[in-house]
Amino acid sequence: MADFFSTTTDTPGIRELQLIDCDDGIRHTFADIDALATQCRFNNCKYLAKPGCAVQHSIAQGTLDARRLTNYQKLNEEQARNSASLKEKRTQERQFSNMVKSVKTLKANKTY
Ligand SMILES: [Zn+2]
Repeated sequence: MADFFSTTTDTPGIRELQLIDCDDGIRHTFADIDALATQCRFNNCKYLAKPGCAVQHSIAQGTLDARRLTNYQKLNEEQARNSASLKEKRTQERQFSNMVKSVKTLKANKTY
């Protein structure tokens, strides 16, 4: 597990791309937590310390390492942040290309 984290976080340059690709890796690596979350009586389990949370129950029982949950949540947050910034970047690119297109149209119609 330590290898998984160090290889994905020690190379800032390609980190973003790796994390995008890593989404499946995260799911796979933490499949046990995902499985617990689906057993949880809370829909869309946030692993919060609520009575009845299956994930928290496993931690209390000692069958799940609390640090694993922390790592999972950190990676998920980072993943969400990266996806959001990538989406924003694409929106900006699209807006720019629309602007270029409209300028070209103006030029073609000589309406500028
Ligand atoms: Zn839960």
